[in-house]
Amino acid sequence: MLASVMAFDEPLAQHTTFGIGGPAACMVYPENRDELSTLLKYAHQQHIPAFFIGSGSNILVWDEGFDGFAISLRKTFKELTITDDFQIIAESGVMLGKLVKDAIRAKIGGLESLIGVPGTLGGALIMNAGAFGSEISNYFQQATTMTLEGELKTYTNEEVEFSYRHSTFPEDEVLIEAVFNCNEGVPEEIQKERVIASNNRKTNQPLKFRSAGSIFKNPDGNHAAGYLIDQAGLKGTRRGGAEISEKHANFIVNAGEATAADVFRLIKLAKQKVAEEFHINLELEVKLVGFPESMLSEIYYA
Ligand SMILES: Cc1cc2nc3c(=O)[nH]c(=O)nc-3n(C[C@H](O)[C@H](O)[C@H](O)COP(=O)(O)OP(=O)(O)OC[C@H]3O[C@@H](n4cnc5c(N)ncnc54)[C@H](O)[C@@H]3O)c2cc1C
Repeated sequence: MLASVMAFDEPLAQHTTFGIGGPAACMVYPENRDELSTLLKYAHQQHIPAFFIGSGSNILVWDEGFDGFAISLRKTFKELTITDDFQIIAESGVMLGKLVKDAIRAKIGGLESLIGVPGTLGGALIMNAGAFGSEISNYFQQATTMTLEGELKTYTNEEVEFSYRHSTFPEDEVLIEAVFNCNEGVPEEIQKERVIASNNRKTNQPLKFRSAGSIFKNPDGNHAAGYLIDQAGLKGTRRGGAEISEKHANFIVNAGEATAADVFRLIKLAKQKVAEEFHINLELEVKLVGFPESMLSEIYYA
């Protein structure tokens, strides 16, 4: 008998910051590593698709949901240790905000600009989350993952490549723990950076609305995705309940009852207009989950 919490036909709208998304056939919070291994092996043997979800702050789930297991470590894999020599050992369900606050309290410098990035450590590392010049991968030492066969694997910093909002962890492995070797910082400087980052976020981001943060990656070159979408005249454009934010054009917000189809229409529109006007191909930062293959090809191979 498993102790893991399972919810069948669970609406993923309740598990994403967008507040959008149809049901997962089964949402699972594995109780521990042994049960995670049992679940992954079962899914693998039965050919049930598995998707790993952190706190759902960087995903857009299709309106018809995901026909498989949505596995989240957010409620149960929450061990966090900071040693006297500034090493952080954290399970991937730890919220990034907690990790950053505890690191600041332990006088660790360098992570404070990440304050305010929502999500779990697992999602942050997979996405190589970053803000104001700092990235979660900066002090990364090693990580433990579990394969679909339920086996543990270790990756050192030499074995994983990180780039802008991207890491090379295999997509079919779930990240369960990571270690960071950090340095002592100067408390006054840490506080200063933390306040700058926090104020900047409040001033520039539409935090009153539900969203998944930046929809597109900033392209190479001088102009941010938000600037290009703004210059294409799209701020405030609505499709159904979704809107290209007036405050920050790289945010699509759920202005009330938005569907994934509404957001998808705005994504296509922004990509098309920016391509027409600036000959720049905007790449999605947000991950699409459960979308039909035909829709994915409209975005990824357009
Ligand atoms: C208001 C707002 C502001 C934001 N600001 C920033 C910002 O400044 N910088 C930034 O980088 N991002 C930002 N984001 C995006 C988001 O917060 C980050 O990408 C975050 O790190 C995602 O974490 P998550 O736990 O929510 O991941 P999810 O959205 O749940 O998942 C993201 C990806 O990671 C995978 N994943 C999650 N957990 C695991 C795991 N344990 N093992 C394997 N794969 C896993 C998922 O399958 C998915 O592919 C913002 C989002 C919002 C809503």
